[in-house]
Amino acid sequence: MRVGIILACTECKQRNYNTTKDKKKHTEKFEVKKYCKFCNTHTLHREIK
Ligand SMILES: [Zn+2]
Repeated sequence: MRVGIILACTECKQRNYNTTKDKKKHTEKFEVKKYCKFCNTHTLHREIK
């Protein structure tokens, strides 16, 4: 079962990415390092509702 999530930059709080995750495999909050165009660097992005 895949659910749509939004990934937000933990530095500037901008919502940069829409993606999906497997709810059974990733039960905890999803975190990934991605490029943030607002910070102009790679930052940690976290799932938000
Ligand atoms: Zn940022």
